[in-house]
Amino acid sequence: MGKDGLVIVYTGNGKGKTTAALGMALRAIGYNHKICMIQFIKGSWPYGEMESAKRLKPELEWVVSGKGFVGIIDDKSPREDHEKIAKEAIQISKEKIQSAKYDIVILDEVNYAVNLGLVSIKDVLDLINSKPANLNLVLTGNHAKNEIIEVADLVTEMKEIKHPFKSGIKAKKGIDF
Ligand code: ATP
Ligand code: MG
Repeated sequence: MGKDGLVIVYTGNGKGKTTAALGMALRAIGYNHKICMIQFIKGSWPYGEMESAKRLKPELEWVVSGKGFVGIIDDKSPREDHEKIAKEAIQISKEKIQSAKYDIVILDEVNYAVNLGLVSIKDVLDLINSKPANLNLVLTGNHAKNEIIEVADLVTEMKEIKHPFKSGIKAKKGIDF
């Protein structure tokens, strides 16, 4: 007998956290499992996976929240906007998690939202505690808090050995976004 739904964390400074979550989604769709991906933080540029998601409907449902990276790269909006959107993302996550409609719910970059102070650790722990027993809940983003690691069943730390960015190679379409 397998365990009920798992709490899965992809963290660390290396590449592959969001794509690991998407890979798991792709695998599960093969069994017609239902997946909901909620993006907590997003850049203002388009991502390939948002287009792919349209083709993976209805098994994959995609919820975009967030308004670009807070205070980094291309962010132009005031912090209050980010805080409001992060609160909405938590509310949406709660509804999706408790709906019992999904086999997997992915909270993408939720760890960043916590580290940026946009989401409280208590909100995230409440989400984890409120999940239906058979739901697999995936949390991504570097610097996962210890409180989250403690309650998780599966934690993988992506460790950067090399990243092309470090040798001046820009983010690549289809590989990085
Ligand atoms: P991916 O979405 O490719 O799986 P990720 O989720 O592990 O990456 P994030 O921290 O969410 O990584 O950052 C997203 C973007 O930053 C991607 O374009 C990714 O290639 C890039 N990136 C990830 N790790 C590194 C790194 N160690 N150095 C530079 N850029 C990185
Ligand atoms: Mg990511």
